[in-house]
Amino acid sequence: MNQDCIFCKIISKQLPSTIIHEDNDLIVIKDRAPKASTHFLIIPKKHLKDLREFTGEDKELAAQMLFVANELSKKHLDGGDFRLMLNNGHNAGQRVFHSHMHFLAGKKLPEF
Ligand code: AMP
Ligand code: ZN
Repeated sequence: MNQDCIFCKIISKQLPSTIIHEDNDLIVIKDRAPKASTHFLIIPKKHLKDLREFTGEDKELAAQMLFVANELSKKHLDGGDFRLMLNNGHNAGQRVFHSHMHFLAGKKLPEF
């Protein structure tokens, strides 16, 4: 838990959020400023700044992030199409420095 981190505060319920899924290792919430009709954030509970802080110890956690995305598609999109995005560092668009994966879906997402 990092006292200055908004995602750590969401995980510890000090800040409100709309929780879509929670287990021992991950929480999935609705993004508060959605960029698509479905926009979730898949957030590991462990405070890791970005993917570069993942080590061999976190391999399973990285796999869980992908696995839960698959589950979200089944549960919320009837198996429909989606995009995953993981920004690493300020120049890549990261604004919250607690690693998270964007789960985006909509009629037709803009070309990237
Ligand atoms: P990134 O730019 O990859 O760091 O993404 C941060 C995302 O977190 C943005 O899409 C924000 O809209 C979202 N966000 C920031 N604060 C909150 C919050 N309190 N609840 C839900 N989503 C948030
Ligand atoms: Zn954090």
